[in-house]
Amino acid sequence: MQTTEQLKALLYKNETVADTAPEALAAAQEFCEGYKTFLDNAKTEREATAYSEKLLLDAGYRAFVPGQKLEPGAKVYAINRHKCVLAATIGTKPLEQGFHLNIAHIDSPRLDLRPVPVFEKEGLGYLRTHYYGGVRKYQWPTIPLALHGVICRADGSKVEVCIGENENDPVFCITDLLPHLSAKQNEKKLSEGIAAEDLNVLIASQPIADKEAEKRVKLNILGMLHEAYGITERDFTRAEIEVVPAFKARDIGLDRAMIGAYGHDDRVDAYPALMAEIGVQAPAYTTVCVLTDKEETGSDGVTGLNSMYTFHFLQQLCAAQGADYITACKAAKCLSADVTAAYDPTFADAFEPDNATYAGRGVAIYKYTGSRGKSGTNDAPAELVSYLTRLMDRSGVVWQIGEMGKLDLGGGGTVAKYVANQDIDTIDIGVPVLSMHAPFEVVSKADVYMAYRTFKAFCEDAD
Ligand code: MN
Ligand code: MN
Repeated sequence: MQTTEQLKALLYKNETVADTAPEALAAAQEFCEGYKTFLDNAKTEREATAYSEKLLLDAGYRAFVPGQKLEPGAKVYAINRHKCVLAATIGTKPLEQGFHLNIAHIDSPRLDLRPVPVFEKEGLGYLRTHYYGGVRKYQWPTIPLALHGVICRADGSKVEVCIGENENDPVFCITDLLPHLSAKQNEKKLSEGIAAEDLNVLIASQPIADKEAEKRVKLNILGMLHEAYGITERDFTRAEIEVVPAFKARDIGLDRAMIGAYGHDDRVDAYPALMAEIGVQAPAYTTVCVLTDKEETGSDGVTGLNSMYTFHFLQQLCAAQGADYITACKAAKCLSADVTAAYDPTFADAFEPDNATYAGRGVAIYKYTGSRGKSGTNDAPAELVSYLTRLMDRSGVVWQIGEMGKLDLGGGGTVAKYVANQDIDTIDIGVPVLSMHAPFEVVSKADVYMAYRTFKAFCEDAD
């Protein structure tokens, strides 16, 4: 006969970090100061890459040179086309016994400028945009916006643009209809209230002095851009300018237990993964941290995880050590990090509470993602979930497990399948996010810290 207490011990409990690891909360606050600085300096994949490279160089990482023999403890890194980071610490065990791979992505949903973006209408000057990733279009009007990116000039030189981040900078915005005249718009479905073609960024309103000229505001815009950056309208065709929210990361709540910011997805996993990689000294298994691009559009292209760049790096790492790549992959493990949907009580209908992940209850595991009957997903083997959860338990990591939400409402994918397809054991973990993909997303600091503790434990694991 078992007592109630004994029976209760059989239950899976999804408890808060505050209840199960209250001593971690102060450390979480401290860790997240660095994370907020990262967010404010890394609003695009290019900026995240540049900032990460600076952190790696400060920590003593050297540029990886293919063919160069590396001793245990050596720290090397490589950058893929200004948009992806690869960093590794050589382990004491041979690579044939496996490596530990932490992957997260540093691109976020946003509005990109179109190749011919500048236009003028009735005295107002705009930039046309093409949304990138899963954007809910109605969320982007009437918030302050900044322009970030690069423009290549006719002579091949490249100029960086960042307007809207300094206090003294102007900002930009997309307008919306006043409620007094919105009767027709209000009849539309939420997904159609603001169309892609409506996402035009207001950039100027003053014409040049010559009253005889046509498109006087557009000419004024081109003149100011030429003066500031030495560019012409043609140069937008060879530019990558991203329109992102102009606000900075802020603490949320009287208790400052959460962070509101643009781009938590997926810098909230990228920063902890990078910090764990930087912190590890002489690990048993070689650790590799990859911060990739293009996750939000399906991982295609030369900087996405569908490209060979990560696997070429791993191949070259093996070659430098004289290790067989296939054997190394078969023995390797990967934490594929990406944010998860945090249960939102306001939209409880979208979730199944028992299998939801919650802000403040630790790092979340997704055994699989996908949609319509687990299509298009890696599905981590039970043995790998067992390895990870036991590692987390003995490392004092507070974790939870769940799924995206109600089964047939939608779904989503991550990079996990592209790694698993290379014969590498892979599992999804990440920080739960409220308002995912919105211009201002919310996470719990305790979860960010538990993600860091997970990557750290994985980097340091010697079993
Ligand atoms: Mn993501
Ligand atoms: Mn996403």
